[in-house]
Amino acid sequence: MDCLFCKIINREIPADIVYEDDQVLAFNDIDPKAPTHMLVIPKKHIATLNDITEEDQALVGRLPLTASRLAKDLGFAEDGFRVVMNCNEDGGQTVYHIHMHVMGGRRFTWPAG
Ligand code: ADP
Repeated sequence: MDCLFCKIINREIPADIVYEDDQVLAFNDIDPKAPTHMLVIPKKHIATLNDITEEDQALVGRLPLTASRLAKDLGFAEDGFRVVMNCNEDGGQTVYHIHMHVMGGRRFTWPAG
């Protein structure tokens, strides 16, 4: 499958992996927008948020669970952090394998641009 993040999961292209279990993978973003910027992805290929099904609920629930565990491990959970999931063109999605951006280490503004 011609999917960048599936290739990272399959070790066909390198990434700076920070966490892995049987269902999810987390790695540092190649173009960080914060002192810490990781992506948490399901190992199952799901293209967009619109493609999540009822049977994916537990799997997708692991994304924020993993995000907060990583934030705690890295020491910025208490100060706070930002998670983002972009969907399709207007949402700013460029890689069509769902991913949760997990950013910490600075203060974020709202609303997003
Ligand atoms: P955007 O590119 O607008 O942030 P997405 O929400 O689809 O859109 O995010 C894709 C993310 O994947 C980007 O933050 C980008 O820097 C990151 N990325 C692209 N290629 C790689 C890679 N090879 N390794 C790690 N991160 C990557």
